[in-house]
Amino acid sequence: MRPVLRALLSLWLVLAGAGAAGAETIVFEDVNVVPMDRERVIPRTTVIVTDGKIASIGIKAKLPAGTPVIDGQGAWLMPGLADMHNHVTARDDLALLLANGVTTMLNMGEATSAFAGRTRIAVNRGEVPGPQIFTAFVVDGDPQYGHFVVRTPEEARAIVLLAKANGYSFIKVYTNLSADAFAALAAEAKVQGIGVVGHNVKAVGLAKQLAAGQAMVAHVEEFFYGFFPEPPADDQQAPPEDARIADAIALVKAHGAFVTSDLFTFRTIAAQFGKPEVVKAYLAAPQVRYLAPGDRIDWARSGYQKKAVDLSRRAAFEDRFVKAMADAGVPLVAGGDAPTIPGLVPGWALHGEIDAMLSAGLTPWQALSAATRTPGEFIAKTVPGATQFGVVAPGYRADLLLVADNPLAKPATLRAPLGVMANGRWYDAAALQAMLAEVAARRTLP
Ligand SMILES: [Zn+2]
Repeated sequence: MRPVLRALLSLWLVLAGAGAAGAETIVFEDVNVVPMDRERVIPRTTVIVTDGKIASIGIKAKLPAGTPVIDGQGAWLMPGLADMHNHVTARDDLALLLANGVTTMLNMGEATSAFAGRTRIAVNRGEVPGPQIFTAFVVDGDPQYGHFVVRTPEEARAIVLLAKANGYSFIKVYTNLSADAFAALAAEAKVQGIGVVGHNVKAVGLAKQLAAGQAMVAHVEEFFYGFFPEPPADDQQAPPEDARIADAIALVKAHGAFVTSDLFTFRTIAAQFGKPEVVKAYLAAPQVRYLAPGDRIDWARSGYQKKAVDLSRRAAFEDRFVKAMADAGVPLVAGGDAPTIPGLVPGWALHGEIDAMLSAGLTPWQALSAATRTPGEFIAKTVPGATQFGVVAPGYRADLLLVADNPLAKPATLRAPLGVMANGRWYDAAALQAMLAEVAARRTLP
């Protein structure tokens, strides 16, 4: 970072030290804005943030002396990133996300009521640094996968009320729910204004699930199980025919549903099936020093490495499928799925997903839309009362990422933030690095 920028940012950190950073005005000057509302750049302008929201772009207002100024010096300001599928429940993992530019996360399972309630509120208040938290409560029809079990329509209706009362924004439906329970759940969720997201439910199928109002398909591969024809018995990992992609796209678009792009997760799983040496390499990656010791232990003994399955043709199909969905205007949201699957570290996993989308042929605009604007549209549609985010525009949450290059031209710049603003609170690169160092120290085993 240039010295002047660094000095001004340090000055701001001193000024912000009083704590009420979210309730102040902060100015970005001389910054290129990538607003992500459409594919464009607003060159060298001024962005004013007040009370945690973007107040204006391109207006040089007279501000009181002492208003903190971040001199952008021609750097690039874009919406913070959204990780719309993870299993993060630890406060230290929130720091990993923030340090990677992630300012919104959706926990898709294993969030306790303490995380969905107290931690979420503490982050919003600025007591804990981290992205804005949304959580989905997972329900299944049997205990096979370790999820909360609901068997009857009465139980399904009750769980919608309880999840809402405990701060969860979504119900995540899982594979073995009964058709009756799913129907009751979807109907009650509509009444309560809580979104239904998740897997293919075997007893129902994606087509009926989306028709019943399910707002999001949680993984691309759910279409393998719940929409495309079954593979032949003698070739269980055969990919669907490309000719069927158009039907899947038509289904999703007919219901206005969102699809989580998880190409990196699928590739990472595919790479380690039957290969303990690959998991060893994942454990040796530099960012693993930030991972919780319990996650490292779980990675080391995970099941994937013990059996060989060749998912390569399905992974290649997913690339073509996601590219086709992006080109057809299916709203895609990016998910990193960390930290339970070996190889997926919170924050880094989302960058892995962005890179996977790019290598699947999505344009930087398409990939970045899935990690910014489209998640904002998804939450605006499914969570009543949520402040808008995902675009740099007046009235939107001040969730911002400052990077050295134009991310639409050089997306690799996203991996090295110059600073991150979450809900109006500014963290410069030095603050983010210090946060990471603290996490590594806490998580190093003696
Ligand atoms: Zn997941």
